[in-house]
Amino acid sequence: MVKDKHTSEKASKGSAGVEELARLECRIDWAVNPPPVKASDTDDEEQDSSDEEYIPPLSLQLGGALPNVPNFDALPVIGLEETVHDLTADFESEPSTDPDSSTASPADSNVPTVQKAEDIVGAKASIVYDDCLKYLAAFVTPPVKQCTAINVTGATCQHHPPFLVNIKGKGTASMLEWSCADGHIVWRWVSQPLMKYGLQAGDFMLSTNILLSGNNYAKIALLFRFMNMGIFGPNYFFSIQDTYCVDSIKNYWMEKRADVIARLQDKDVVVLADGRNDTPGHCAQYCSYTTMENDTLEIISVVTVDKRQTDRRSAMMEKEAFILTMDQLVTEVKLVEICTDAHSQIGAMMDPVKGRYKDHRIHHSLDMWHGAKNLAKKIAAAAQVKELSVLILWLKDIVNHFWWCCKTADSYEEFLLYCENINSKWYPL
Ligand SMILES: [Zn+2]
Repeated sequence: MVKDKHTSEKASKGSAGVEELARLECRIDWAVNPPPVKASDTDDEEQDSSDEEYIPPLSLQLGGALPNVPNFDALPVIGLEETVHDLTADFESEPSTDPDSSTASPADSNVPTVQKAEDIVGAKASIVYDDCLKYLAAFVTPPVKQCTAINVTGATCQHHPPFLVNIKGKGTASMLEWSCADGHIVWRWVSQPLMKYGLQAGDFMLSTNILLSGNNYAKIALLFRFMNMGIFGPNYFFSIQDTYCVDSIKNYWMEKRADVIARLQDKDVVVLADGRNDTPGHCAQYCSYTTMENDTLEIISVVTVDKRQTDRRSAMMEKEAFILTMDQLVTEVKLVEICTDAHSQIGAMMDPVKGRYKDHRIHHSLDMWHGAKNLAKKIAAAAQVKELSVLILWLKDIVNHFWWCCKTADSYEEFLLYCENINSKWYPL
């Protein structure tokens, strides 16, 4: 479990943590309490290669004496993506993405509209309260001299001002509606510009920006509910995502990626790569394999594998994603080194003698973040044996020493020397 110094410093933890970890100055953040002790009966190989089974340091405190101590291991595991349950409300006001003219003011051609991206991108928006709108509306006289609706009798209504104003929500917009004494709507005002097909610009922008800012709909919808603000329903969100966002984002990514690959020509390229599953455990459906260039920290590849591509075997997804990644990268850049976790299947493919990529002579190194993590996990498991329980007291120091050895050593031999000579002159303490 060792790697070259220069790549080890860019230890990566899946795509989400790549930049964040790259910024860190090689240090381990321990929780206030020691890491948890949890024996695992899964095989070592699986532990080595799996992020998901790692239990991060945490402190669990019971609120008071319970008649029976609950078995926490038996409780169901709830992933981050599953923690929003409070969204059973029906979305009566869910706007449609179909052509819709209900938000347009009757006979009003001055309603702000969005004709091109510049009309709305960067436009200032705000949160508005109904009471403030009501206050404003009391001073507003709609540009209608009389009601022109046709009654059931076939006659024109002809009611005159003052008209009654009412505030309605539609999606994320507020709508003021002035009506005559017979309830005919004579004029409307909407708090958002309208787009083609009657889409409200705020609804559209929120939908796209939920995706672009890396959020998810359920959490944002819950936030809106806490704020008592209107929001469109999930169907609208997914419809906008599918219709307008996915292909645009893909195209943009492909353009940016082509730029990065072009800049890497004629260069010895060192990359860091890791996979991340959509859900923890063994029931993941997707695995995203992300590759970052070591000097610029630019992402140069993102490959997503569906479980159906690997005979519905989640455990095979990372291998498949790695193959797709490598098969492409070796044709595009001069890859000299790749740093990954200690995934056994990847290790086999990078074997310099009989691995799939042996002819490319790519140096395979292991990142020390995963190394330190697995070391901690194994020591904690070993400490479950009664006679070895003292190990838990040493866990933090051992892992810190491992980290220091990785950082300091320039070769495998040097690394072993440091590891073995913990009390020697080399150790900084
Ligand atoms: Zn009327």
